Amino acid sequence: MASIFTKIITGEIPSYKVAEDDQFIAFLDINPNARGHTLCVPKQETNKIFDMQPQQYLELMRFSRRVALAIEKTVPCKRIGMSVIGLEVPHVHVHLIPLNDMKEMTFQHKVKQHENDFISLAKEIANNLE
Ligand code: 5GP
Repeated sequence: MASIFTKIITGEIPSYKVAEDDQFIAFLDINPNARGHTLCVPKQETNKIFDMQPQQYLELMRFSRRVALAIEKTVPCKRIGMSVIGLEVPHVHVHLIPLNDMKEMTFQHKVKQHENDFISLAKEIANNLE
């Protein structure tokens, strides 16, 4: 069965898209640890990151770096944290999280974000991509 992220990639489920190319997509996490929390996802569905082909893994890192720099330009923060978990959604994704405090990396601390803010923030990050 297709993962929830494949459904986002095919457009079956909506998302607040930040970036996309032929191999990857980035969209805002629906339950963010911090404002600007973004997921970078390969379109080819693989469960575990270290099962990816080395070249595709490196391309994912390159794509994630580009998105992270755009987030950092957009959201006031000390730096962008990166995490890979996958216990909830078994489709590779890199979490990019604007950090001001260590608690934002714990996945226990969540922030409420309204629809309008998700929409405008995704656009702002997209506009800051280089
Ligand atoms: P993990 O699999 O790394 O433990 O966590 C999955 C992440 O995906 C969580 O941060 C969760 O909020 C996010 N997530 C789960 N379902 C959706 C969804 O339908 N849309 C979006 N944008 N994010 C989701």
